Amino acid sequence: MSQKRYFLQEDQIPSQWYNIQADMKTKPAPMLDPSTKEPVSVESLSTIFSEACSRQELDFSNRWIDIPDEVREKYKYYRSTPLVRAYGLEKALDTPAHIYFKNESVSPVGSHKLNSALAQAWYCKQEGVANVTTETGAGQWGTALSYAASLFGLNAAVYQVKISYEQKPYRRSMMQIFGAQVTPSPSMSTRAGKDILTVDPNHQGSLGTAISEAVELARTTPEKCKYTLGSTMSHVSLHQTVIGLEAEMQMEMAGEYPDEVIACFGGGSNFSGLAFPFMRHNIEGRTNTRFIAVEPESCPKMTKGKFEYDFGDEAGYTPLIKMYTLGHKFKPANIHAGGLRYHGAGAVVSQLYHDGLMEAMDIPQLESFDAGILFAKAEGIVPAPESCHAIAATVREALKCKEAGESKVLLFNLTGHGLMDMSAYDQYLRGNLY
Ligand SMILES: *Cc1c(COP(=O)(O)O)cnc(C)c1O
Repeated sequence: MSQKRYFLQEDQIPSQWYNIQADMKTKPAPMLDPSTKEPVSVESLSTIFSEACSRQELDFSNRWIDIPDEVREKYKYYRSTPLVRAYGLEKALDTPAHIYFKNESVSPVGSHKLNSALAQAWYCKQEGVANVTTETGAGQWGTALSYAASLFGLNAAVYQVKISYEQKPYRRSMMQIFGAQVTPSPSMSTRAGKDILTVDPNHQGSLGTAISEAVELARTTPEKCKYTLGSTMSHVSLHQTVIGLEAEMQMEMAGEYPDEVIACFGGGSNFSGLAFPFMRHNIEGRTNTRFIAVEPESCPKMTKGKFEYDFGDEAGYTPLIKMYTLGHKFKPANIHAGGLRYHGAGAVVSQLYHDGLMEAMDIPQLESFDAGILFAKAEGIVPAPESCHAIAATVREALKCKEAGESKVLLFNLTGHGLMDMSAYDQYLRGNLY
């Protein structure tokens, strides 16, 4: 057996992110202001987002963007993350495939989301903004942002969907440990929240209500408070490319190159982060890697959605985005992979999918948990329910290799651990999960 885990030295941690927008032959269609139908500008975006992130969002010319030193210093707290050869999983499947995974679950907050939270919080700090705000459902993004804000001395106000605030108290506790002010949404602290509660005092909240409240907070005090987002936007994907850039060097250490790159897909940030650095070699015509985005069967925006302009949120507050979408009013089933319950796909990934540069696959919930349990037994890590989707797709591909007698190299992203999702595993073990 050759090496199990591959690490980089601190000085090999990337010092630049990769901006695929510069290399795309067909650029994503512009985001439109819903009232004027004009393309949004950096100026209009930066009334809610930090100026640096707004500039990155609309940057179609710079391939490489410097990672600020302060952000890179914080990356050193947990990066490089290990690239792991999944010998245990290979053995359990009796497959000739070589399976690797990038283990983002080792970040202090337990998921890849910190890679962008650190960058977004730092830019706010640098622009003299003392407060950041966001929404969170199950709490992965809220936790990452709360920790990042505390590292840079910012106040974080997180609107958490009321029903998960009540039913999933531990991620709320984590956010509070990091000093964030966590408010169940809808709340009486904003106009939007008051309006919703006036109509329905027992409203349980949704990402839509939480986004509306966070955006309102940022919009009413733009000099003092900025809004941040954990997925879908191009600048979030940009920050996540640190994953794939590391993986590229680590695969080289292992003496291999992936035939297939596989990642679960909510809004697209971890998929983009792992895939884009490898995809740039396909764009240059140097490689022929397959890229597979894996979504839940109950929220299949790529495999079953339409490519058209739609809002990014339920309430219709965001700009119009041309993307694969199930429609912003689509209500995904209440599956355990909360991070994958999103109706749309983000402009960049949607364009790449439309142009045939990547593929998509959807996986039933039960199959995803079967794969997660198999992985846990084989590798000792209980995966996040979101990550289980990538594992299930990898299992499908590895079994195809077995049938064909092919030793393909498969690389997937382990986006997070599932230690805060044990109630979902409990249900699985009691046979109550479908
Ligand atoms: C948020 C989340 C996802 C999905 O989001 P993407 O932006 O599509 O990456 C996947 N896994 C975990 C652990 C998450 O927290």
